Amino acid sequence: MSEETTDLLFTELGLSEYVLQAIQSVGYEQPSPIQAAAIPPLLEGRDIVGMAQTGTGKTAAFALPLLSRLNTEQRQPQILVLAPTRELAIQVAEAFKRYASNIPNFQVVPIYGGSDMAGQLRQLKRGAQVVVGTPGRVMDHLRRGTLDISKLQSLVLDEADEMLRMGFIDDVEWILEHTPKERQTALFSATMPKQIKNVASKHLNNPHEIRIKSSTATGENIEQVYWMVSGTNKLDALTRILEVEPFEGMIIFARTKNATVELAEKLEARGYAASALNGDMNQQLRERTIERLKSGKLDIVVATDVAARGIDVERVSHVLNYDIPYDSEAYVHRIGRTGRAGRTGKAILFVAPREKRLLYTIEKATRQPIKHMELPTGEAVTAHRIDQFKQQIDDVFNAAVDLSFYNDLLADYSHQNDRSPEEIASAMAYLLQKERPLQVKFAPVKSERAVLGKSDRDNKGPKKARVNDADLQRYRLEVGRSHEVRPGDIVGAIANEANIDSQYIGHIKLFDEFSTVDLPKGMTPEVMQVLKKVRVRNRPLNISEDNGPRHDGPPAGKKPRTGGPKPEGKRAPGKFDSKSKTAKPKSKVRHKDQKNKGYRAKNVDS
Ligand code: AMP
Repeated sequence: MSEETTDLLFTELGLSEYVLQAIQSVGYEQPSPIQAAAIPPLLEGRDIVGMAQTGTGKTAAFALPLLSRLNTEQRQPQILVLAPTRELAIQVAEAFKRYASNIPNFQVVPIYGGSDMAGQLRQLKRGAQVVVGTPGRVMDHLRRGTLDISKLQSLVLDEADEMLRMGFIDDVEWILEHTPKERQTALFSATMPKQIKNVASKHLNNPHEIRIKSSTATGENIEQVYWMVSGTNKLDALTRILEVEPFEGMIIFARTKNATVELAEKLEARGYAASALNGDMNQQLRERTIERLKSGKLDIVVATDVAARGIDVERVSHVLNYDIPYDSEAYVHRIGRTGRAGRTGKAILFVAPREKRLLYTIEKATRQPIKHMELPTGEAVTAHRIDQFKQQIDDVFNAAVDLSFYNDLLADYSHQNDRSPEEIASAMAYLLQKERPLQVKFAPVKSERAVLGKSDRDNKGPKKARVNDADLQRYRLEVGRSHEVRPGDIVGAIANEANIDSQYIGHIKLFDEFSTVDLPKGMTPEVMQVLKKVRVRNRPLNISEDNGPRHDGPPAGKKPRTGGPKPEGKRAPGKFDSKSKTAKPKSKVRHKDQKNKGYRAKNVDS
């Protein structure tokens, strides 16, 4: 295992000119540690195993080198990426598009379950150098002969542990067995369970292993909190925090150079003395910016990691991680910009729900808990604005300004209009605050706990809360053991094809000719329609509500196989509670894309 962090530049890695131009235009300043470690061996054509999670920059870690090796003359697929969910497949495909924006005739096709088979077929037929897909759908296309991988150079298994958890590992192996032997393979996984290690040793050729160093303690004089991004966008959240949080100087960290400029401009427009600090600025300008922060001409500097390295400004009372850093080391560097010279400091971290693993990693590596914070409420902001307003009035009196002209004016108005001095003062206060109302009301937002699940945080691990059985309904599927169906197939098909998160898929029982599954109550006819057509082992599920007798007993002398434990080594991987015989859903019921699909589960966010 190599453990690497980096001071390298993208230009030193041997990436193609096309790719370097794209990096420049998306504004990445420096390779993230996983990128610095993965890009060189991938460019050499080696296989790699990378332990990395979402948020570390792992997509670019494989996309950039593989795109650099692309034969643009050739239209057949050269790169195939397998991803556990349609969301990830789409996201990875979009990342490829971004990084390949300068490559002529470049095409990438995401293929996943759902409605648009015809569109996917059309795109595949037209020719695409990169295909990103979920294992089931990729297998489907390979079987039908609609995906030609005879020219495949590289295969990427993204979030391999997640594919295992969702029951796709057999499909993944099937695909590995059906791709050209001389292909290059990159496997990325946040964790390395035994089954994933087995896949790596069986199907990868002497892989270069990469693990990103996690380290170091953080100062105890720095209070650390995080806000789980939900309900409010990051910019609004930031401005709310800026309004209430008593800070002197602040460094806000963003990932890209472009983001530092955009954010600094938005903050300036909102009246803050803010400026960007990034690697595009020359040394002199950077130094001047830091000087201005030191002298109090600036209160906020929005910086990239590289540009902020080593800043030592005593009045920086706060560090705000607008974008989560790639690893704990970067986090430690960042928050070390506050709490200087024996002062106390505060570090605030924005974490998107899908980045929560990184939060746990940072906590573990720094051996310091990062406390959850809620955004300031409307009342808190109101109270703050009222205080400021009163202070402004005090300031006028304290400055002993000559008010006689205004006194006469208002006495005159009061006399002419029969208004009391209080009424007139209220009207003036109203006028004064018009642009920035004193009374603030925010739309209620879902708390982080609703997103994360309380037990999840409290256990410090990515476990999920359970769905109440009463919120589930039993359905019958017209596929069973005689069709060689396994619980993992059903979970995978429903999760990907109907876009229902796997954690909401409950108890599965297999019978010879059919099976039953517990799913959220209240699915719309549209979702049912999709589920009827979904195919498992090439047979339609033909789902229907199961209102008949409970099939709790084994049919005709046969034991039903459940999603629960099977003999060691044969268990549906990781999906079900190993202690119970039944597969219970593990979290609250929420459709991944409720609005679009018109799906309404009754117990949403209950
Ligand atoms: P990933 O871990 O692949 O999901 O990437 C997480 C985020 O980091 C994405 O929004 C990328 O655009 C961004 N990112 C990836 N590499 C870099 C880099 N070298 N510099 C700045 N941002 C990056």
